[in-house]
Amino acid sequence: MILLDGKKTSNDIKEEIAIAVDGMKERGEKVPHLAAILVGEDGASLTYVGSKVRACERVGFESTLVQMPDTTSEEELLNTINDLNTNDAIDGFIVQLPLPKHIDEQKVLMAVNPNKDVDGFHPENFGKMALDMDSFIPATPFGILQLLERYEVETKGKNTVVIGRSHIVGRPMSILMSQKGPAGNSTVTLTHSHTKNLSEITKQADIIVVALGIPEFLKGDMVKDGVVIVDVGISRVPDASKKRGYAIKGDVAFDEVSKKSSFITPVPGGVGPMTIAMLLKNTLIARERLANL
Ligand code: NAD
Repeated sequence: MILLDGKKTSNDIKEEIAIAVDGMKERGEKVPHLAAILVGEDGASLTYVGSKVRACERVGFESTLVQMPDTTSEEELLNTINDLNTNDAIDGFIVQLPLPKHIDEQKVLMAVNPNKDVDGFHPENFGKMALDMDSFIPATPFGILQLLERYEVETKGKNTVVIGRSHIVGRPMSILMSQKGPAGNSTVTLTHSHTKNLSEITKQADIIVVALGIPEFLKGDMVKDGVVIVDVGISRVPDASKKRGYAIKGDVAFDEVSKKSSFITPVPGGVGPMTIAMLLKNTLIARERLANL
């Protein structure tokens, strides 16, 4: 069994990005600038945004955090998005999800300038991705493709099963792995909460991407020997033995499933760190595109 080490791979990618930024600085060019909008005080969101800002500093990007109270109206948020859309200093930005209930998430994602949409959530980018056109690929799927590619995991002609059909992970993964190209050319089955006999399907899989948010959902008896496992899940499970009172669990029962796997991502240290690295990569791409306009 080989661990698909997202921590190491994401550090390699960040190193590559830092070298590109050094080159920009030496040539006197503008360096990439990522902004993040955070509405409210959700603990997990604060942690995620904090990691993104720190990652920017590490690779030499500029970063801006726009923090807004959870009483922010939809109109105020849309105005802030418009400011970032038109601010030439900002190359890319994200709106951290989830948003407070009184704000329409779709309206917000639609308001982001597609050229600065480094999360790849705008329908224009999603549509371009589905049509094999140049676009921003959502960071988590982009990170999974990179892990598979860099570990030379064969995907061509393999049976891939994706569990979960979210717009940010499962659905784009199913599209990307069925496309021509690196980490593609797979025969993909997209499964979800209405799928019948899931175990029968997963037992046929050469590769399983699990993104449903139920800790240790995928058990050893649901997979065949030699399977490749990508575990996207991140859940906080109460654990009195930990100082912070919880442990981070993936969607895969790691101890059982890893014994049967050829490759597997750990949680933490697998897909999570790749997501941040690919957000940086998308921001670098955004800057390079803007520079070439
Ligand atoms: P989601 O929470 O939006 O949706 C869950 C999906 O799972 C749905 O499509 C649903 O149909 C499916 N599902 C639920 N029960 C099922 C069942 N019994 N059998 C088959 N399918 C079932 O999904 P999400 O936003 O992709 O999040 C999934 C997990 O991935 C969460 O733990 C989330 O925290 C994590 N996540 C991690 C990263 C990362 O960077 N590592 C990024 C995004 C999400």
